[in-house]
Amino acid sequence: MSQLKYCQGPKCHTYDTKDRKRGPKDNKRNETRRRSSFYYLNGNACSMTCQDDWFKVYGSRALQHFGMITQPKVLTRDNAWTNRRDWRSEGNDGYYAYNYLTEERRPITEQQYNDDTNIDDQGRLNI
Ligand SMILES: [Zn+2]
Repeated sequence: MSQLKYCQGPKCHTYDTKDRKRGPKDNKRNETRRRSSFYYLNGNACSMTCQDDWFKVYGSRALQHFGMITQPKVLTRDNAWTNRRDWRSEGNDGYYAYNYLTEERRPITEQQYNDDTNIDDQGRLNI
């Protein structure tokens, strides 16, 4: 069983729902939601509202921390590769690397299709 963790939404405790209520009748309080898994904010927020709250408070700071781009990123024939599969084909024949700009196709293995090791994180072909 996985460990419980708290929703990272900075205002989670301010939303008045039954499952957030804790404490005895004369001292009721609302607490941040705690679950084994969440669906939002990469598994760290209990709702889209909490995800939006997090972004409003921390989004700009996260961009500053990890670095804003100062020049446009550019898609050229060198980094326009993606792996595709032709579902009508049988076996390895259906797997290929596809170039968005040149429309070139290069055969790849099923393994490469599944693990993407033939393309780097910038979209360049490694084979
Ligand atoms: Zn929340």
